[in-house]
Amino acid sequence: MSITPLMPVYPRCGVRPVRGDHCHLIDEGGTRYLDFASGIAVNLLGHSHEGLIGAIQRQAATLMHVSNLYGSPQGEALAQRLVDKTFADTVFFTNSGAEAVECAIKTARAYHQAAGNDGRYELITFTNAFHGRTMATISASNQEKMHKGFMPLLGGFRYVEFDDLEGAKAAIGPDTAGFLVEPIQGEGGIRPASEAFMKGLRALADEHDLMLVLDEVQCGVARTGKFYAHEHYGIEPDILASAKGIGGGFPLGACLATEKAARGMGFGTHGSTYGGNPLAMAAGTAVMDAVANDEFLAEVTEKGERIRARLEQFIGNYPDLFELVRGKGLMLGLKMKVESRPFFVHLRDNHQLLTVAAGDNTLRVLPPLVIGDAEIDEFFDKLSAGAADYVIPEAA
Ligand SMILES: *Cc1c(COP(=O)(O)O)cnc(C)c1O
Repeated sequence: MSITPLMPVYPRCGVRPVRGDHCHLIDEGGTRYLDFASGIAVNLLGHSHEGLIGAIQRQAATLMHVSNLYGSPQGEALAQRLVDKTFADTVFFTNSGAEAVECAIKTARAYHQAAGNDGRYELITFTNAFHGRTMATISASNQEKMHKGFMPLLGGFRYVEFDDLEGAKAAIGPDTAGFLVEPIQGEGGIRPASEAFMKGLRALADEHDLMLVLDEVQCGVARTGKFYAHEHYGIEPDILASAKGIGGGFPLGACLATEKAARGMGFGTHGSTYGGNPLAMAAGTAVMDAVANDEFLAEVTEKGERIRARLEQFIGNYPDLFELVRGKGLMLGLKMKVESRPFFVHLRDNHQLLTVAAGDNTLRVLPPLVIGDAEIDEFFDKLSAGAADYVIPEAA
């Protein structure tokens, strides 16, 4: 047998972490890496947060899992906190981002079908989007590399150029149920939508009775200096998918909706065995305790602005390597003039700096939100050293 016991769907690298220490990862061989990837925007409290660890330990010893057939004081409490903090009136808890998007898609379809509009099932989605790896969520993205081998796709998605409001408007037809969009594309290369685009989608949704569904799986939960990124745009969605940072490393996602948007989601319409179990709720509550306050959010904004200013200055020294910096808060992208993946590998293997490669030759900078001055300085030391000794690989 030549297949590996772990299904070989990931091209895994030689870094094999076995321990976390605040904003660093330590691998099998004892090498320390500065973690500015955060498990792809997940470990927003780093790896040693006492509040999060304590909450999970206490809950694990008290009650880990019960069925959603029973009442959930833990789920009610966390849902109430999310409702109090956001546009939403109601929350469905999931175990992942794709499941949160899946619930959002079902909620948007059910909104129309509950009113007898069975033909209004199509969501308008945007180029280079990433919504997850289930059949529905790959179908929602135009990225063919995710479709290959898995045809046929699920119907009911129409792709329009990202940030193209006129295109979105022109795509509206009698089948349209709504829009599904990342306010800041993550995998696509840390690309923030323009304010005109987001405000325009909101206005189109209001005008045509469409659902504005936001995928904030990567950009949500304090990452950009707001609790959710749409707050930067001065708009509110009807439905929102959240995950990644929301559990701080514990698998947790959530689909948030207004009362109106959730009108089709009655008894028996949706479910999940694990979704919202007491252990997940303890993790989510500990994360909310830490990040859902103005002081913490202001610190994220301040640190983000500081890193951004230093990055802008830094890239000026390497005009052949870097084009620009984009993003918000601590969701930053360095768009490169050369292929970004080999540089990301160089930083990882030769300078023990973990970042994440993304589309559009962008290097994602996604540190834990709890970084301090020492980690920021270490990041720039490693990045500068990495740029200084980088040899651009010859095209194959
Ligand atoms: C990561 C991500 C997802 C999928 O989340 P999983 O937990 O991997 O299923 C969906 N949407 C966006 C924007 C993401 O970044």
